[in-house]
Amino acid sequence: MLRPLLVSLLSDPDLTTSSRCADLALRGYARGRLCLPAGGASTVPELLAAALPPGTVRTGVRAVSASTTAVATAEHGEIGCRAVLVATGAHDAAELLPGLRVPAFHPVTVMHHTADRPPLREPALILAAGGRGPVAHTMVASEVDPSRTPPGRVLITSTVLGASAALPAAELDRAVRAQLAAVYGTSTAGWELLATHHDPYAVPAMPAPHDPRRPVRLLSGLYVCGDHRDSSTVQGALASGRRAARAVLSDFGAPPDAGSDTNAGNAGTGSVPAAA
Ligand SMILES: Cc1cc2nc3c(=O)[nH]c(=O)nc-3n(C[C@H](O)[C@H](O)[C@H](O)COP(=O)(O)OP(=O)(O)OC[C@H]3O[C@@H](n4cnc5c(N)ncnc54)[C@H](O)[C@@H]3O)c2cc1C
Repeated sequence: MLRPLLVSLLSDPDLTTSSRCADLALRGYARGRLCLPAGGASTVPELLAAALPPGTVRTGVRAVSASTTAVATAEHGEIGCRAVLVATGAHDAAELLPGLRVPAFHPVTVMHHTADRPPLREPALILAAGGRGPVAHTMVASEVDPSRTPPGRVLITSTVLGASAALPAAELDRAVRAQLAAVYGTSTAGWELLATHHDPYAVPAMPAPHDPRRPVRLLSGLYVCGDHRDSSTVQGALASGRRAARAVLSDFGAPPDAGSDTNAGNAGTGSVPAAA
């Protein structure tokens, strides 16, 4: 069970990830189990934004350059500021902050099928890596979170990792259906392919030695966070954001958050990192 579980937790079919990161993933799995945000992945940033005063967050604004005193945007002019925290993925961060390290990535393709009835009545993640087909894991998503489901239908969500993730959509769908028929023990011929999402830069690779506490403070007034500064997960992105927020507070002389996060990293040291 361990190998397919790690493949799925790390999005890494060759298991080239640092064993320390694998330990962290297993620890998270053992302590927290698995979950999906009700309503979809966007629920997490929406909840974070909802806790802020109205008007604090503006979406749909693309930054084209950033400095300690201003952010230039594609269509909304220049916005002056006292500090900038770049919270994009690694590629976009390196465009805004030239010289920033860009890691290798694990590609991921997610396929959503709908059907008349659930092939399994259980909110379970089924590990399929190493089986006959491209799917690493699959679940009846409507059994986990009914709010994601098209009315009167069920939703089956399957994830493809590695080189297979880049196969043309129709070819991939054929191979995925054949494998899912065996996995669920039912015909998948009548299933409808709702959507295929391919992301070649889905998950930053974490080969050894991986530094899960990469500096988030580049200069006083210029900060960077995201999964590429920590571990390649939502938790890693959130932890790096917390470290960056603490660095901003420290540079501005504000009392640090009294939260109990022990991942405070370089916050408050006042040092400029040697390597970003
Ligand atoms: C298909 C898929 C499945 C995944 N499954 C899991 C999972 O099950 N569990 C897990 O923990 N992780 C998973 N991940 C990884 C997880 O999604 C990421 O680690 C996490 O979203 C990283 O958060 P982030 O805030 O660093 O970056 P992102 O979530 O990528 O957010 C960066 C934001 O910056 C914005 N942006 C980029 N450039 C600019 C610009 N120039 N100006 C303004 N805004 C900009 C983007 O639009 C985006 O909204 C998955 C990733 C993918 C692609």
